[in-house]
Amino acid sequence: MKQFVLFLLFFLIVQIDSDAQFKSYFQNGSLRIDFVLSGNAQESKASIFELKKERFYGGSLHKTIDSLNYGEFKISLLDKLDSTVIYTRGFCTLFEEWQTTDEAKRMDKSFFQTVTVPFPKKEVVVSIERRKRNGQFYNLLNTSIDPRAYSIVKGKLNGVKTHKLIDNGNKDECVDIAFIGEGYADYEMDKFHQDIQRMYDYMITQSPFDRYQNKFNFWAVDAVSAESGVTDPRKDVWKDTALKSSFNTLNSDRYLESTHTFLIRDYAALVPYDQIYVIANTDKYGGGGIYNHFSLTSIDNSRSLTVFIHEFGHAFAGLGDEYYTSEVSYSEYFNQEIEPWQPNLTTLINFEAKWKGMISKSTPIPTPAKEKYLDKVGVFEGGGYSAKGIYRPTYDCRMKSNEADEFCPVCQKAIEEMILFLTD
Ligand SMILES: [Zn+2]
Repeated sequence: MKQFVLFLLFFLIVQIDSDAQFKSYFQNGSLRIDFVLSGNAQESKASIFELKKERFYGGSLHKTIDSLNYGEFKISLLDKLDSTVIYTRGFCTLFEEWQTTDEAKRMDKSFFQTVTVPFPKKEVVVSIERRKRNGQFYNLLNTSIDPRAYSIVKGKLNGVKTHKLIDNGNKDECVDIAFIGEGYADYEMDKFHQDIQRMYDYMITQSPFDRYQNKFNFWAVDAVSAESGVTDPRKDVWKDTALKSSFNTLNSDRYLESTHTFLIRDYAALVPYDQIYVIANTDKYGGGGIYNHFSLTSIDNSRSLTVFIHEFGHAFAGLGDEYYTSEVSYSEYFNQEIEPWQPNLTTLINFEAKWKGMISKSTPIPTPAKEKYLDKVGVFEGGGYSAKGIYRPTYDCRMKSNEADEFCPVCQKAIEEMILFLTD
């Protein structure tokens, strides 16, 4: 069965592995699917809110099938006539994080979610799947979309300035990041652009970004906030900002997020993008990053630049948190009975599929936290918010702490694979 699936996947990749094939299924622009996820700790429901046609599609034109299989959710597009799978992509949501909190055991809640895909030429069936506790996908939503329908919204935000601050070439061969300012008043746009430049200057000192600095375009979307700074509920500070972000997301003080996903996507749509990065104009420590959703960081804290690429590690490469001692709102986030999909975490249930090949024969599995192994790739217990049963690749890493010098070799490899997937 597995071989058959692999054969099928290979066949599909071959079938649409060219720009010509891409053009036979897709036209310019992207189809944006805005939907609402609702439920509680036990139940999930998805329903369409609105469909939009956007001017740009930032992604690869020849790799439409997601071979990495990361993410708690997956979107697939099937040609309606012959059921050929023409596009798939994994993603994560704030909803699934909320589902692991105590609040979700007591009540129902809704979250805005958006996925953008290349705009289809013909009628397609869109399916959204999510993983069960056992890691297998099940279907959450199925709907047919006719690209000619009048109900597809074509409006856009007007009067917002955009700039290509770092230009390394064509959107199809680069990772395009849409940086959107949050909590920058109209007189602070120069600072916003300088902040983006600082982020780029730091990023290209870090492996593997140093080797791929000509593969990134940085766009600035000048979202103007009525007030400078961002909302901080624990200090009773409430700001009128463009993206309505806030600290204390999921009742964790340093967790800075915005639940106004559709609003963020309206701003991002003004430029071509593979990733969205919201920069919050504050010196309070915090941020958040969700795979193929968006990243957010405050910018004026002394640790903001390390937080910046840590969060990008989540949102861009599907990396998991390697820490386990900090306070988080989640309980039993990972099912320790299965191998997690995150490339930098393992339960040792299927370690062959992870970084076993990167460990030298003289390093024991699991690896004791002893002096002689501290600079080696191994399997160190503790990671994914749990001190027991989940293992990480090195003693320290950018995905574990702000004190680490860099991403560990396993995280570096995962980031590199994603850069190549999107640009090669
Ligand atoms: Zn790592």
